[in-house]
Amino acid sequence: MKALVKRGSADMGIENIAEPTPQKHEIKIKVLAAGICGTDIHIMKDEYPYNAPVVMGHEYVGVIDEVGAEVDHFKRGDSVVSLTAVKTCGKCRYCQEGALMLCPERLSIGSGVNGAFAEYLTVPARLAYRVPAGVASVEDLAITEPFACAVRAVVERSSVTAGDLVLISGPGTIGLLALQLAKIQGGYVIVVGTSEDEKRLDLAKKLGADLVLSEPDDLNRLVNEITPDGVDVAFECAGVEASGEKCLQVLRKQGIFSQVGLYGRKIAINMDQFLYKEITVTTNFASEPTSWDKALRLIKNNQVNLHSLISARIPLEEWEKGFELFFDKSNLKIFLVP
Ligand SMILES: [Zn+2]
Ligand SMILES: [Zn+2]
Repeated sequence: MKALVKRGSADMGIENIAEPTPQKHEIKIKVLAAGICGTDIHIMKDEYPYNAPVVMGHEYVGVIDEVGAEVDHFKRGDSVVSLTAVKTCGKCRYCQEGALMLCPERLSIGSGVNGAFAEYLTVPARLAYRVPAGVASVEDLAITEPFACAVRAVVERSSVTAGDLVLISGPGTIGLLALQLAKIQGGYVIVVGTSEDEKRLDLAKKLGADLVLSEPDDLNRLVNEITPDGVDVAFECAGVEASGEKCLQVLRKQGIFSQVGLYGRKIAINMDQFLYKEITVTTNFASEPTSWDKALRLIKNNQVNLHSLISARIPLEEWEKGFELFFDKSNLKIFLVP
C-alpha cells in the first residue's frame, strides 16, 4: 500500500509498504481522509519527536476493513475514528487516570507508530469510536481529532462561563473549533488574526465570533472599549510568540491563559507579568478519552460545524501540494485522500 513515510531528518516521501495485519485486539481501518496538522509540519521540520521510519498522519476517519480475533464490538464496514495515543503502558498513574497522552511509554500514531497518511492503519479496538449515525458527511469526521483537542483545551482544562470575555488568538483550525466551543459555553468571543487571515476571520464571523480583528495592534484598544479590566480567558492557538505576548497583555488580573498552540521552540515571555496579574496558566497535550466522548456527542447533536473548515482534498501521492496549501493562510484543513 502507499504511505507517506518520514524516514529521517529532512527526508520524507511516498513509499510502497506492506499492509498492516490486525493483532487480536486491533482493527484494520481503510483510511477515507486524513488531515494535515501543524504537528505534521513540526515533524516534517524535525521539531517534534518521531520514530523513523514512520507513516505520518494522526487526524483521520476510516472504515473497518478487518477485525482482530478478539474484537466483538465492531464489524467490517463500520465507520470509525480513534484516539491517537495507541501505545501506553496501562499501569502508570496517568494510564490509570485515563490521561493516556501523559504515559511515559506513550507512542502515538503518525509519530511514534505508523499513522493515517496511508491506505490502511491498525489501532487497538478499545481506542476507536463509531462515527455517530446520521452525520451528513462521514469524511468531515477526520476533524474529530483536532476538535477533541479543542474540547480538551476549552471545556476540560480551562473554564469559560456565560458572560466571560474570551480571546482566541490565531484563527486556524484549532482556533475556529475553540471559538465554537467558547460560544457554546456562553462566552463573548473576540478572534484575532493578522492581515493574512482575512478569509479565516470571515469564517470566524460565520461560526459565531462576536468580534474579529485582523490587526493585533488594535486589540488593546478594542478590549479596553469593552472593559478596562481585560479579557477573562485567552486561548493562544497560533503557537507564535507575538500572539502569546498579546494574550498576556490583554488578560485581566486573575484571568486564564490557555496555551493551545505549539511553539516548537523556546520563546521569551515575561513570567513576572503572570505573577503580577495572578494569571492561571492552563495547557493541554492533545486530547484524552473524555475529550473524545464530549467531542463526538457535540458532533452527533450537530452543535459544531466541522465541514466549513475543510479547504481541499488532495490525493495522498500529491502530499507535497497538500503541505504547500497548508502554509497558505487562506486555507484551513487540508485532507490527504489515499
Ligand atoms: Zn493534529
Ligand atoms: Zn502508562
